[in-house]
Amino acid sequence: MKQIYAFAEGNMEMRALLGGKGANLAEMTNLGLPVPPGFTMTTAACHDYQQQHALSDALLAELDQHLQALEQATGKRFDDPTAPLLVSVRSGAPISMPGMMDTILNIGLNDQTVQALATLTADTRFAYDSYRRLLAMFGNVVYGLSESAFDDVLTAIKQEKGYTSDLALTTDDLKQIIQAFKQLYTDAGKSFPQSPKAQILAAIVAVFESWNNRRAVIYRRENHIPEDLGTAVNVQTMVFGNAGEDSGTGVAFTRDPATGERALFGEYLLNAQGEDVVSGVRTPQPVAVLHEQMPEVYDQLAAIATTLEQHYRDMQDLEFTIEHGELYLLQARNGKRTPAAAVKIAVDLVNEGLIDRQEALMRIDPKSLSDMLHPEFDPQALAAHDVLATGLPASPGAATGEVYFTAAEAKAAHEAGHQVILMRQDTSPEDIEGMIVSQAIVTARGGMTSHAAVVARGMGATGVVGMHALSVDEHAKTATVGDIVLHEGDWVSVDGTTGHLYRGRITTTAAMVKESLATLLDWAKAASRMGVYTNADTPKDLQQALTFGADGIGLTRTEHMFFQPERLLQMRRLILAKDAEGRKAPLAALEKMQEQDFYDLYRLAAGKSVTIRLLDPPLHEFLPHDLREINEVANELGLEQNQLRERMAALKEVNPMLGHRGDRLAVTFPDIYAMQVRAMMHAVFRLADEGVTVAPHIMIPLTNSETELRWVRRLVVNEIEQMASAKGIQVTYEVGTMIETPRACVTADAIANVADFFSFGTNDLTQLTFGYSRDDVGSFLPAYLEKKILPADPFQTVDTEGVGTLMKMAIDKGRATKSQLLIGVCGEVGGDPDSVAFFDSIGVSYVSCSPYRVPVARLAAAQATLRATKKAKARS
Ligand code: ADP
Ligand code: MG
Ligand code: MG
Repeated sequence: MKQIYAFAEGNMEMRALLGGKGANLAEMTNLGLPVPPGFTMTTAACHDYQQQHALSDALLAELDQHLQALEQATGKRFDDPTAPLLVSVRSGAPISMPGMMDTILNIGLNDQTVQALATLTADTRFAYDSYRRLLAMFGNVVYGLSESAFDDVLTAIKQEKGYTSDLALTTDDLKQIIQAFKQLYTDAGKSFPQSPKAQILAAIVAVFESWNNRRAVIYRRENHIPEDLGTAVNVQTMVFGNAGEDSGTGVAFTRDPATGERALFGEYLLNAQGEDVVSGVRTPQPVAVLHEQMPEVYDQLAAIATTLEQHYRDMQDLEFTIEHGELYLLQARNGKRTPAAAVKIAVDLVNEGLIDRQEALMRIDPKSLSDMLHPEFDPQALAAHDVLATGLPASPGAATGEVYFTAAEAKAAHEAGHQVILMRQDTSPEDIEGMIVSQAIVTARGGMTSHAAVVARGMGATGVVGMHALSVDEHAKTATVGDIVLHEGDWVSVDGTTGHLYRGRITTTAAMVKESLATLLDWAKAASRMGVYTNADTPKDLQQALTFGADGIGLTRTEHMFFQPERLLQMRRLILAKDAEGRKAPLAALEKMQEQDFYDLYRLAAGKSVTIRLLDPPLHEFLPHDLREINEVANELGLEQNQLRERMAALKEVNPMLGHRGDRLAVTFPDIYAMQVRAMMHAVFRLADEGVTVAPHIMIPLTNSETELRWVRRLVVNEIEQMASAKGIQVTYEVGTMIETPRACVTADAIANVADFFSFGTNDLTQLTFGYSRDDVGSFLPAYLEKKILPADPFQTVDTEGVGTLMKMAIDKGRATKSQLLIGVCGEVGGDPDSVAFFDSIGVSYVSCSPYRVPVARLAAAQATLRATKKAKARS
């Protein structure tokens, strides 16, 4: 089997065999670009080497042939006393691992050929500069001599002579350095091989070995690159960027990798070689300066950049060298870029006719989108701060502000004009007002679907939860991490993408929805089978989601509307009332308030569907917790403390999540649901008077059976019909149900008889399927993930095997009863790309997620449809 390919024999499709670098060097050669000639030893040869720990005879024979061919092509020869051939030996894996493996330049130089090179080029300094570079690289890569030992020699001589730059080194200095370098070899019991052939062989072995060096192994682990790919080895004729002031070396991007702007971007150094640009020995110039220094070379580079972009149909990252005004290309690859740049480049490439919309959609990682919708820390400012503690990165973003330990104090500080961060042991729905005004929410406890996490994501606030090293004492108004104490009002900064907490104030850079993202999302919408709705409790949430292109509201949780102070009071009146008579006044007050809420949402939705869920949580969540509050509430309600306590005791439940909640509340307190429906109808009527038609979608939570839903549905429908006929207008409406218990899934065919739509509440469904309390998973879930007993947190990525099977069953049964049944998903996983793909495959009609996840879900939905269509085509 052929183990070596000349550049002219390969092409860009041969990445697996030739590595990315080799395949692209071949492709560029065949495009007629100025690439110094060379050849590539395959990854198969690498595998062979890894097994034998030796270069096979067959490989060595092929190598000889290719070296001879190279000599012929260049008119130079290895070890030639007048015209020596010099080469680089470069690593290059099938997947780009920039700088992780080894490369050696200037191979072929020895005590004789260095003189030949000096004579040939009439530049002695250049020849010895190249030789000292070879000695350092070879010593480091082949013999493992430390890089800093070589650097120290260089620094010592520079200091002795009072030089500030390597460029000041004279030929004599360089000769002295070479002697000192050789001494380093001797000290280590090694010697530098004078034979060029021996150098090449040692370098090839070292490159194969570098596949297993520490940094390469770690990089592969971090980036999920398979261990068994192996590296190819490229042997390439040297060109010299260190041949004087008309020479240089640089790197260039065909577009700005940070913003995606179309312009040649990069850095270079004159009179330099290889890694000088990135190693920081001298400060490089921006490529734009080359335009002035060498206009013709710049124009040629710009033209090559365009050619390569057209050819590869993507932004390229290039390495180039200029030797005496002559430009050479040494590498091209698809450039790494920020999420924002990725979106802009993909959209621009479509507009430039290089790729189609489908390809643009497939190129972007949906998860990366949420990072571009939030502000970020200024990287320089961030580098100057130490991480104080780390928690779970619950909601991305970068926030800085003064820390407060209760919602009330956060709110007061906000009203006094402060920028606040709320830090608590954990949060409850009561903290909502403090959460709304906070830049970030940090909790010591809780998991990725804890209250704090869900709310932070919902509001687009930065959120970090489960920061176990943190302990908050709201009474002492302090938080401690080890022996560091934070006091109320201290500045802290929170990174919701990494989960890091910092002390002090770190500057941020703003983020917006850029035009290119809006375009991409439009294309995604046109390409996907599923709709993308939002979970929104307030007009502010809805507005945000509409900006991101949401198709409507898939879930409004009405209980979140009850936590503002004046409403909470009425709610408590309602709950604590002795009988139906006592509930009348608070119900009337709440009805007015809810009417306004619904009116605002309907109006803003402007015809898009708004799905409102009736009251769901256990009533005790609305009751006061501590003594001071109990006192206050008793006073406000004109009750004795004892009476209040008795009533509270009666409402207390051992397992509130499994208790008196959802439509169980409708069965015991029908007047609450009736009130909510009336409020909704009043809002509908007001809009009707303004000429706007609204078809309310009402959703019943936690249904377990057809009979139960039939009972609640009758309650809702009666109220609607009565009001509509009294008003004298026709209202179209839908009454659907959440599917969030295993029983509901199993009996979905029956339930569909009385439901106009389904929406999976995957948070509860997961909780009830596994029997995991989602508020308590923090104590055991991490162990399950670490021990790989669970592949992923089922509250973040749907458990397809268990929960997914129940969902599939519910969909099939539901549609067996009503073939056109609309079926949504409104749990946390509705915004998770992997889950979205699964939902597309089982026939879900739409997903609904927090506003900031709408773009993520939209792109994931488009990709799911595109992949499914492609698969179906391949089958037929
Ligand atoms: P990496 O994979 O770490 O980028 P490379 O193999 O690309 O390593 O080489 C490191 C540096 O040496 C790059 O700047 C490259 O352009 C330069 N280089 C490699 N081969 C040659 C050559 N034949 N002539 C001139 N410069 C070279
Ligand atoms: Mg490179
Ligand atoms: Mg639920």
